[in-house]
Amino acid sequence: MSQKLQKLLILTFLMGTLCLNPCFPQEEIPDLSRVKIISTHVAGNIYMLEATEDVAGNIAVSVGPDGILMVDTQFAPLGKLILAELRKICPGKTDIKYVINTHYHQDHTHGNLFFGKSALIIAHENAMGRLLDLPRYAQPTITFNQQLSLYFNGEEIKIIHYPPGHTDSDAVVFFTKSNVVHLGDLLNSGNWSFPTVDLEGGGSVTGMLRNIEDLIRIIPAGAKIIPGHYELSDLEGLKATRDMLVETISLVKRKKAAGLSLEQIKKEGLPPKYKDWGRGYTNAETWIENIYMGLEKESSLDKKFNK
Ligand SMILES: [Zn+2]
Repeated sequence: MSQKLQKLLILTFLMGTLCLNPCFPQEEIPDLSRVKIISTHVAGNIYMLEATEDVAGNIAVSVGPDGILMVDTQFAPLGKLILAELRKICPGKTDIKYVINTHYHQDHTHGNLFFGKSALIIAHENAMGRLLDLPRYAQPTITFNQQLSLYFNGEEIKIIHYPPGHTDSDAVVFFTKSNVVHLGDLLNSGNWSFPTVDLEGGGSVTGMLRNIEDLIRIIPAGAKIIPGHYELSDLEGLKATRDMLVETISLVKRKKAAGLSLEQIKKEGLPPKYKDWGRGYTNAETWIENIYMGLEKESSLDKKFNK
């Protein structure tokens, strides 16, 4: 066996191990029996709907004279609870016209099975390719490659695809007049959890950092940011995540280049100031492993294309 093939097999095995990470299971549905849906008015037409128990992605809804547009759908069994919360926000008006999926992960798309029966679903074309196991009505009806705008409830709703970051299907939704942005899983806010990069789903560790740097440049001052998980955020929260990414990625990169193994780097851990970041669904060890494997994948791609 050539050394090159041996390395490739090890890499494939390690990537397979990482994909068992429970952050992005595509088949299992978590226990939803104790979950409640809580809504918050964000700004203008926009509300955020959160599922308790840390089980599902945050939903954004635009509510107004044109009806309801929803960003992400959590899990189908939560559909009735979500509708009940929408009834509180806008009594007598719960017809959902559009659903936008920020990416393909099932904690953001499984509810397409509930809402897709009446709403039109919009997602990036790469998400479509990863949602083909769903029945047709729960798959996207409208896909886009780079960017798409909807004019709804008195404002332009701009959906922009970003290059590989959390996955290869990430879409960021800008509610331009309300000055609210839904970032999908490019952001876990509140220093609760390190992020997750889905390498098998086309994600990139350094790509995620680049995308966040780009977003910091274009998100308007005063904007409210709805993260994929945890509490409402803003540019300051996004900058804190950027700073954490810069430091943790370069730390793992440096130790890897110095010849330390993944186990050694995990054992040495991250600086104590990051203790709080491991309280959510991605702890420090998992994040170090994610960075390490992400860098490994990027360097093997660089070699393949002689960069
Ligand atoms: Zn995700």
